[in-house]
Amino acid sequence: MKSCLAVDIGGTKIAAAIVQSGKVLRRHQISTPSSSDPKNMDKALEHLLMPFLNEVSTIAVASTGIINDGVLTALNPQNLGGLNNYPLQSVIENITKKTTVVINDAQAAAWAEYQTLELNNINMAFITVSTGVGAGVVINNELLIGANGIAGHAGHTLADPNGPICGCGRRGCVESIASGTAIGHAGKPFFGDTCDGETVFTHFAQKNNNAEEIVNTSAKVIANLIADLKMVLDIELVTLGGSVGLAPNYLQRVQHYLAQQPIAYQTKVQSALCGADAGLIGVADWANKIR
Ligand SMILES: [Zn+2]
Repeated sequence: MKSCLAVDIGGTKIAAAIVQSGKVLRRHQISTPSSSDPKNMDKALEHLLMPFLNEVSTIAVASTGIINDGVLTALNPQNLGGLNNYPLQSVIENITKKTTVVINDAQAAAWAEYQTLELNNINMAFITVSTGVGAGVVINNELLIGANGIAGHAGHTLADPNGPICGCGRRGCVESIASGTAIGHAGKPFFGDTCDGETVFTHFAQKNNNAEEIVNTSAKVIANLIADLKMVLDIELVTLGGSVGLAPNYLQRVQHYLAQQPIAYQTKVQSALCGADAGLIGVADWANKIR
């Protein structure tokens, strides 16, 4: 039996790998073209995927953005260089002449995380706090995707009606306050115009008061998001990933703020385990399951 070629399309890189039984065997990655011209993405995908095609029978793709019926639409128009309404599934099928499935990258990563759990049939959410805030939800052993591919986009739920305008156009989304990008932005008055999320976390590690306040604000917003997910979906476990989610002491802050909520809102929160290949591993397994 030939293997599955998994592809992970992110804002900065596109990775492709042969995945067999949850293991990444051969991996290659390129930079994401920063252009709204779809031809550049077509060419980049062709260049990346062609060398693998003799070894695989199917293609499974995890991508940033909303994947509705195989078409990539951008919730945040700045993502992927302004590429929008891109027919991802048919482009890849035309290049590869192989059956292709496509889902959102955080949904795929949630499925990968779910496979690592020892307990079956546990209602779980995966939240990634990184450049943006993404999430995926598994309920009753099923990955939630939704009729329009939107299920799990919890980074765009409301955190503060008076907060900053989010990249999606709405005011006060979780992502606009809690993401690494938002953390970097909040740090500029204290640490200079070149400040990014990493700068703030460097100062946070040195117990700088301003950095602590910025990180605490992010952690509080994520704790509230978890409390909301508990009430809506009866989530029993949250795994937290992404560069911010896995930064030292961030998980503990989230747990601290969640513990201040009434008991019904609280749920178990732990670090995500799958790391940078979660999207690849998750989408390969999910594709295998639905075939
Ligand atoms: Zn938003």
